[in-house]
Amino acid sequence: MKKIQRKVLKHLEERGWDTLKPGDIAKSVMIEGAELLELFQWENPSLDEVRKNKEKLEEVKKELADVFIYALEMSVLLKLDAEKIIDDKLEYVAKKYPAALMRKNAKDGSGSGSDSEYWRIKKAYRKGK
Ligand SMILES: [Mg+2]
Repeated sequence: MKKIQRKVLKHLEERGWDTLKPGDIAKSVMIEGAELLELFQWENPSLDEVRKNKEKLEEVKKELADVFIYALEMSVLLKLDAEKIIDDKLEYVAKKYPAALMRKNAKDGSGSGSDSEYWRIKKAYRKGK
């Protein structure tokens, strides 16, 4: 278990929260994710705009920490290696979304949704599940 997971486990054990149910933690991840999303309700600033807005950045840090902490709580209590599951998923995503294709569509920050090759790859992976 990595240092941050040990710290999260200690935090849970000290408060008697180490018996939380996975469903309750999953709900908390989503609730905190919604709080993060709420920071951008009715606005859609660029990365640079958020980086330069100290107040907004502080709010983002707090909500992002809440999401990370609940996600780590889930991994700790289910005895999952957070770094390994992230590595495994990144490896899967790297195959699913080839870098060269994704970079082609990344210039304006709008993603790949308008590229038919992207949708062909995505559909193929969904069928493979
Ligand atoms: Mg919060």
